[in-house]
Amino acid sequence: MASMLKGIAASNGIAIAKAYRLIEPDLTVSKQTITAPSEETARFQEAVNISKSELQAIRDNAEKQLGSDKAAIFDAHLLVLSDPELIAPIEDKIQNEQVNAEFALKETADMFVMMFEQMDNEYMKERAADIRDVTKRVLSHLLGVQIPNPSMISEEVIIIAEDLTPSDTAQLNRTYVKGFTTNIGGRTSHSAIMARSMEIPAVVGTKEATESIQNGDLVIVDGINGEVHINPTPELVQKYEQEHAAYGEQKAEWAKLVNEKTVSADGRHVELAANIGTPKDLEGVKSNGGEAVGLYRTEFLYMGRDQLPTEDEQFDAYKAVLEGMEGKPVVVRTLDIGGDKELPYLDLPKEMNPFLGFRAIRLCLEEQDIFRTQLRALLRASKYGNLKIMFPMIATLDEFRQAKAILEEEKQTLLTQGVEVADRIETGIMVEIPSTAVMADTFAKEVDFFSIGTNDLIQYTMAADRMNERVSYLYQPYNPAILRLVKMVIDAAHKEGKWAGMCGEMAGDETAIPLLLGLGLDEFSMSATSILRARSIIKRLSQPEMEQLANEVLGLRTAEEVVNAVQAAISK
Ligand code: PEP
Ligand code: MG
Repeated sequence: MASMLKGIAASNGIAIAKAYRLIEPDLTVSKQTITAPSEETARFQEAVNISKSELQAIRDNAEKQLGSDKAAIFDAHLLVLSDPELIAPIEDKIQNEQVNAEFALKETADMFVMMFEQMDNEYMKERAADIRDVTKRVLSHLLGVQIPNPSMISEEVIIIAEDLTPSDTAQLNRTYVKGFTTNIGGRTSHSAIMARSMEIPAVVGTKEATESIQNGDLVIVDGINGEVHINPTPELVQKYEQEHAAYGEQKAEWAKLVNEKTVSADGRHVELAANIGTPKDLEGVKSNGGEAVGLYRTEFLYMGRDQLPTEDEQFDAYKAVLEGMEGKPVVVRTLDIGGDKELPYLDLPKEMNPFLGFRAIRLCLEEQDIFRTQLRALLRASKYGNLKIMFPMIATLDEFRQAKAILEEEKQTLLTQGVEVADRIETGIMVEIPSTAVMADTFAKEVDFFSIGTNDLIQYTMAADRMNERVSYLYQPYNPAILRLVKMVIDAAHKEGKWAGMCGEMAGDETAIPLLLGLGLDEFSMSATSILRARSIIKRLSQPEMEQLANEVLGLRTAEEVVNAVQAAISK
């Protein structure tokens, strides 16, 4: 039966395909006494054999698609499954204690996992993770439930999930994954941000996608209106196919602006930059006419792996981006881990409020080895292009001063070692904490630039978790409170002759762009796929008119009043 779910439009576009549920199955095990241990052992061995052939196929596929270092993870899993030290005790337990295979497997594996995790040895800790993974796979076969293998998807699908972590999202194969929908999340959760840069239509925060959608159901993800249609009528499919085609035509129109500068109708130039997560994203920056990289979220270099990236690995990535941009500005943000971006291998204690916790610059100033390694890699790469360094989550002037002093120290050390470093590297901060926005006039005397991170600035100003769909109505970029803070930051920068950019999602927002132009923003950094539309909007606007509009809306009372005023002004 046809039905529809409402959610949050997280990534523009329309996708129509069969559902693929990316959901962890229930693997709860209970202890049972059995009467035929030999048959039970045979059942266990069969589950092991099926798991091995499945892993072999996943391994071969990973090697083809992602290279041999990613495939090595599955080699390790295959080794675990062939290890008599793990397998023999399970079979003994079935035979001697006459218990079911599921229970024998779980008990034995848990014992090894606990033992390895307690060792103060990285290698053994990784083995514990391997055993945990492999156990899940064998258990799923014993219990007759399916665990999803997203890397094996070989037809067009829409992913259905409770939530997707940023590293889940990064691993989605764009050839086959046409769209996704999740139960939780908001417009500025990182999976949504990545979906936009990968141009995968997405609707998040539907609350019940996993309950309502079964594998194989036909699904339409309408990432424009935030709707998910399940088993739609042929008429509705046809309507959406037409909309999809119209959206394609609109994009072809915008594409004509790819080599143009971004200039308002009266001739004011602003810079349209791109937010990237990996050097691979440069392709999209170029094909969408990005004039700079306004935010390189380096944390993705640290994710989807088992240990910290080395200085040389980082150097290679930063150099590739700087060279790829051929002298255009590249703003690299130092590690911003925490919130919805986790690094399991750092073994940080779980926190009650991770978005308010030990994250980003707070972690870097404490764990200085991690920070200094990144800064050295950046300094060494600086001579390959136009590097600017930006510190995230700065709440106090003291944090900025400390971070800058560490950067200076590393620079001096490299210079005394004879390593070449660019003469001048602009150093700026993200303004994403209200205290910093309020104190922008003070900061402006010491930083080279500001980049306003509205995803967090709105979250902290409105006290509304950006991951929580129940409070997503408080994500209000047009609320006069936010606009006044943005104005304070831009004015403070200009007063000291510095520039102000914005790299939160608000910078690419159709309704916000006229106001930001009016407030004097110098640089707009957004998902590469939003750049051409933004350029077409700015081309039609007059800066003095938008300045007047911005001044008017700062005196309005609600976000709704602001939206109405903007719409009335630009439709004139
Ligand atoms: C922001 O907070 O606006 C920002 C750009 O950083 P992130 O989305 O990575 O937190
Ligand atoms: Mg942020």
